[in-house]
Amino acid sequence: MKMMKAAFLPGDSTVELKKVPVPEPGHGEVLLAVKASTICGSDIRAIYREHLGKGPEGYQGVIAGHEPAGQIVATGPGCRRFKVGDRVIVYHISGCGVCNDCRRGYMISCTSAEYRRAYGWQRDGGMAEYLLAEEKDLIHLPDSLTYLDGAQVACGFGTVYEALQKVGIDGSHAVLITGLGPVGLAAGALCRKLGAEKIIGVDISAERRQIALNLGLCDYVLSAGPENVNEVREFTGGEGVERAVDCSGNADARAVAIRATRKWGKMVMVGEGGTVAFNPSPDIIHDQKTIYGSWVTSTWLMEELVERLVRWNLHPEDIVTHRFPLEQASEAYSLMASGHCGKVAVCPGAE
Ligand SMILES: [Zn+2]
Ligand SMILES: [Zn+2]
Repeated sequence: MKMMKAAFLPGDSTVELKKVPVPEPGHGEVLLAVKASTICGSDIRAIYREHLGKGPEGYQGVIAGHEPAGQIVATGPGCRRFKVGDRVIVYHISGCGVCNDCRRGYMISCTSAEYRRAYGWQRDGGMAEYLLAEEKDLIHLPDSLTYLDGAQVACGFGTVYEALQKVGIDGSHAVLITGLGPVGLAAGALCRKLGAEKIIGVDISAERRQIALNLGLCDYVLSAGPENVNEVREFTGGEGVERAVDCSGNADARAVAIRATRKWGKMVMVGEGGTVAFNPSPDIIHDQKTIYGSWVTSTWLMEELVERLVRWNLHPEDIVTHRFPLEQASEAYSLMASGHCGKVAVCPGAE
């Protein structure tokens, strides 16, 4: 039996590398050689440090990693579109395919308790040499995008693209991004291409603020603190921003994003976990503001995003600051947990 290396997360801030059998694709399934697998903030928050997640975030002791891209090396019977040699991205939640949410392409919110299984959470993920995936979860990765670009399309850039579609971004908008981790950096990159007039970023980490400036993803960056609302107003003629995107999941940062949004403006929450406190009358009602929530994205919007990335010559790989071989997955996760980085990637087969 052919064996492969794979990384598991026991939940005490360590990574366990094990040898497991290479799976064989069944009906409607493909086997990918994993080329790139990036680490997500939610892996750290809900799995790596300790197993906190319930329901869709419940980690079932499977091979970790829900942000893979790779090349098909085998197909099972019944595949209809993809073939050996194709470069692909994996939508990171495999849904039942036939509930209302799945039919809309939002397998993230599949309502089937029996069939909804996320890669790296309830079914084996991409921190391994090979990954078994369902054909219906695949998105074509064009030749002009790298595997590291592809790995970030589903969860990272896709999640942001969805949120930005909800609030709409155009050239008349100043945009505030609270939280400049990989998702916030993706928001900066996409707002830039969508033509935002001014992009202001907030983060507690000086390293992350510097990454945002170095890559030209923000025009101004602010150190997170109690003066942020006033500082944002100073950059926007005293009015505040037309659009705000919270990528922090932090209570204070969310309140800043709500309060620094101008009259008739829109704010969207992407960052997960935590709480927020605000005063509805002065903070949103009297200024006619709208608050959106946005969870991941859909398969059709992911395909649209991939097409746009090619047309824009936008490479999500640019926010990857560190790459590790699979043998060093442990170093990769501990760096991501430290926050002293942009996006961190594991590239199986690179060693
Ligand atoms: Zn993710
Ligand atoms: Zn479903």
